Amino acid sequence: TTAIAVFTRDLRVHDNPVLAAAARADHVLPLFVHDEAVSAAGFAAGPRRRFLDDCLADLDARLRERGAALVRRDGDVAAEVARLAHEVDATSVHIAADASAFAARRQRRLAEALASQRCELTVHEAVHTVLPAGEVTPQGNDHFAVFTPYHRRWASAARRSIATAPRHLRLPPTVSAPDAPAPARTAAPMPGGETEARDRAHRWLDEDADHYHSRHDDLPAERGTSRLSAYLHFGCLSALELATEAGARHTEGADAFVRQLAWRDFHFQVLAARPASAQADYRPRADAWRDDPQALQAWQEGQTGIPIVDAGMRQLSSEGWMHNRARLITGSFLAKTLYLDWRAGAEHFQRHLVDGDIANNQMNWQWVAGTGTDTRPNRVLNPVRQAERYDSSGDYVRRWVPELADLDNPRDLHQPWRLGTDALGKLGYPAPIVDLEAARDRFQQHRR
Ligand code: FAD
Repeated sequence: TTAIAVFTRDLRVHDNPVLAAAARADHVLPLFVHDEAVSAAGFAAGPRRRFLDDCLADLDARLRERGAALVRRDGDVAAEVARLAHEVDATSVHIAADASAFAARRQRRLAEALASQRCELTVHEAVHTVLPAGEVTPQGNDHFAVFTPYHRRWASAARRSIATAPRHLRLPPTVSAPDAPAPARTAAPMPGGETEARDRAHRWLDEDADHYHSRHDDLPAERGTSRLSAYLHFGCLSALELATEAGARHTEGADAFVRQLAWRDFHFQVLAARPASAQADYRPRADAWRDDPQALQAWQEGQTGIPIVDAGMRQLSSEGWMHNRARLITGSFLAKTLYLDWRAGAEHFQRHLVDGDIANNQMNWQWVAGTGTDTRPNRVLNPVRQAERYDSSGDYVRRWVPELADLDNPRDLHQPWRLGTDALGKLGYPAPIVDLEAARDRFQQHRR
């Protein structure tokens, strides 16, 4: 028997149900297809593309240690898999289930393409998440719309067992291993790949996770959060394995961390049940967003004149990552303070975040915009109050907004307009593009 293991964003050999199932066949073809549609949408560009290349190089090395190698193709996933299945006379194809409408279409087309070949397709659940989407549901609905009851059920639900990494793999006799690519691990501050991911996860669990509950909202803290999101997004790490190991620590910090992994599953199950909410309001609203390209551009470039917002936006373009508290502040600022369409914000994030993920990005954006699952959709975050609370030293703003780095007093730092127009001009920092009070009133009028 010959199986094809189609890797998508499960780029690991440990706890990978797709690879483990394929490895039960006599021969295995590990395959990754660079999907032309994903590239065309611009979602595999810049730092994300570099991160993905690292992941693929590392996966290839891990597969070679086991006697196989990663076969890479470009094109349409369904067509490439069907072609290879024919070439190697495959008896089965294994792939992970995913939540987006795009993934559902891909899966349908793959099933159609394989139907004529007497080749069995198995779609594996809970490869990207701890629980399969739809595993727990409230009475009378196909998904949970509120996190707390979801989390309660999530925490006590039975989980699949962790899949062991296969020790030996044999490529089909007609396939020779492609030449090993030159080591691609980049010097990037966040190199991709399973090896790096496992190192980081172990370090995080050993050294920092137990403090998560008290540090995760502290904006300047370097190790207040795990920074594992990109590794989770590309599946270099198994969310199930991570949740299991963190849960076994039984500390307040580690439990709070596991709760965040449940948020990840929560958004996944919302999107799986309502794929249209990647673009359409989950809770439709009657009024229209404002259209203001100049304000949008100032937000994207970190030039709004609100230091905490600009710090977050500049961290995003520089690191391809933004602290969760900063995502909440910048997101609320776009959707509620500027009253611009959350989709424009989500698109910008998706382009720049290495962890950019349709389920987590779109559903968090909807939450922030008050069109999603937030139980307090009309609350507006005041960026100055947020800055005073979560960046009380001002070190986060000083790091990302160097124009203001010499302002010692956090009060001036978070509201530099108080120093007057001349002083602002000398610092080379813009005046606020919006009056925060007036903007809050505008939002409340709209939402009445
Ligand atoms: P930690 O605090 O260490 O959390 C551990 C893990 O839990 C994260 O890696 C992530 O996988 C998960 N997690 C934490 N918070 C959330 C959350 N609110 N929703 C879902 N999962 C969560 N996360 C993404 O992975 N991809 C995105 O595209 C994304 N877009 C976002 C957009 C907005 C507007 C907001 C407010 C949040 C978004 N998040 C997204 C959620 C969260 O900000 C990031 O997961 C987190 O900042 C990643 O950093 P970390 O790994 O250090 O997180």
